Amino acid sequence: MTFLRMSELDLTNKRVLIREDLNVPLAAGEVSNDTRIRAALPTLARALETASQVIVMSHLGRPSEGVAVAEQPEFSLAPVARQLSQLLNREIPLISDYLGGSMDIGSERLVMLENVRVNLGEKSNNAGLAKAYAKLCDVFVMDAFGTAHRAQASTHGVAEFARTACAGPLLAGELDALERSLASPERPMLAIVGGAKVSSKLEVLNNLAGIVDQLIVGGGIANTFLLAKGFNIGQSLCEPGLVATATALMARTHIPLPTDVVVAKSFRGDAEATVKSVADLADDDLILDIGPESCESLAVLIGESSTLLWNGPMGVFEFDRFAGGTRRLARAIADSRGFSLAGGGETIAAIDKFGITESVSYISTGGGAFLEYVQGIELPAVAMLKSRG
Ligand code: AMP
Repeated sequence: MTFLRMSELDLTNKRVLIREDLNVPLAAGEVSNDTRIRAALPTLARALETASQVIVMSHLGRPSEGVAVAEQPEFSLAPVARQLSQLLNREIPLISDYLGGSMDIGSERLVMLENVRVNLGEKSNNAGLAKAYAKLCDVFVMDAFGTAHRAQASTHGVAEFARTACAGPLLAGELDALERSLASPERPMLAIVGGAKVSSKLEVLNNLAGIVDQLIVGGGIANTFLLAKGFNIGQSLCEPGLVATATALMARTHIPLPTDVVVAKSFRGDAEATVKSVADLADDDLILDIGPESCESLAVLIGESSTLLWNGPMGVFEFDRFAGGTRRLARAIADSRGFSLAGGGETIAAIDKFGITESVSYISTGGGAFLEYVQGIELPAVAMLKSRG
């Protein structure tokens, strides 16, 4: 891919501005999960080896634009700066006053800027704001894959105006993994797309149908495909308006459907779970998971694939009685010798729940950005880096 990488640059005596995604969950004013902060550490450490100053910027939550952090302190990056200070064992000043005339961000080697989303013009990618960010540095490093699908001043505009703009190791790693899976996959290539609705993954399914050798569908999504095949799916979640779309997708690529399912009479965690053949459903049945026979045949397909892309659960995995399908396929993905890439919020929750984090080749950190990439959309921040590269 034709963009400049931070690893290709000599940062000696340079002021380096790094956009990270440090939008972490907080509880009682402290960071409750620091995964994203830890993920950024290698980038920061590498830049600190030679740069004269490393300036980290990020957003946190959705504050009001144009309102100072002092007036909405729940959106301050102070807890993140404290956690980062602890992890790096050094004091990291958090700078609020970094725009406008003075732009005095001190001479510390590593500083953090307050939440970029309070700056007027951040979301609209205002050129004046982007230029103000660019003035802070000699080199701009875009390392926030999770926000690469947004053209905002701190993710896109700044890269246009900075003297040099490049991709950081985290962003480059994500793009390399995605390219390996989608642009030049080792075959056979298999995608597993689960989740609630076809409509929310329509573009994902469309794009993948043109790339993969096989496409496993699961969760509520599979129900619409079963309906398209003429099965009675009872009261299961489905989208009758997308039956024609499901039929068209099945004509384009091989989509193995579940042959058995786990059903209940109500959408509850304590509802009685019954395994049934897809041909035997009653009018009041609700499909809440794929069945054991389907799991085993899909696990074989997973085992035979050289490239795997996974997004979305196979059933209502939040309820233990209906988590079996997602658990079994997660295990098959973990055991696979192929290259596996997984992404999306619910998918990462499932990976955590079933303890397979270490066994997936690459877990994407970007929910929306991951899905947009898988839809075949060029991410604006990446397009900008390419144009600068
Ligand atoms: P998504 O955000 O589209 O990936 O959807 C994830 C959600 O789909 C999870 O919260 C699951 O509980 C839900 N889901 C999976 N399978 C089914 C199903 N068969 N019926 C209803 N909801 C489902």
